[in-house]
Amino acid sequence: MSEKSVIDEAKQISLAIELITLGARLQVLQTETQISRRRLINLYKEIHGESPPKGMLPFSTDWYVTWLPNIHSSLFYNTYLYLRRNPARSRMQAVVNAYRLYLEQVPLQDDGKPVLTLTRAWMLIRFFESEMMQLSKCTRCAGKFVSHAYTLDQDFVCGICQPPSRAGKTRKAARARARTERSS
Ligand SMILES: [Zn+2]
Repeated sequence: MSEKSVIDEAKQISLAIELITLGARLQVLQTETQISRRRLINLYKEIHGESPPKGMLPFSTDWYVTWLPNIHSSLFYNTYLYLRRNPARSRMQAVVNAYRLYLEQVPLQDDGKPVLTLTRAWMLIRFFESEMMQLSKCTRCAGKFVSHAYTLDQDFVCGICQPPSRAGKTRKAARARARTERSS
């Protein structure tokens, strides 16, 4: 094995470790590294102490345009684009760094998880790369938000400028429900 390939392998393992630590599913690792599935499963077990979850990745673009996911996805994607401006940074390093910055900015949900998981963030990048999504500029705040490709967006207003009436009530309702259940 040449020296270059050893370095390359070390880089790939280091990327895999970063991705696994951030919660990536096995399919993400299999797509983005040349490490064998068996070794990836072992790495995953070593880091999380359990086997990686089985099952399909989320394939739908619809999730990203619902209210709260849209705000989180747009925050992540704008950060990613900004980081990609540095040509020295690889695509996956930009994904990892943008995702770390995203985690620093947002509060976790009641279940301790972020709204946008790393796997969803990665899928979003892939959807943009296959031109299934676009950015639409909000006519009020001028922020750029994730939307389906070919959306007619001349009059687009984002979910922050115009939140749906139920926004913010879901969590309160859940807490109230939990209180009622505890007291009964
Ligand atoms: Zn707006």
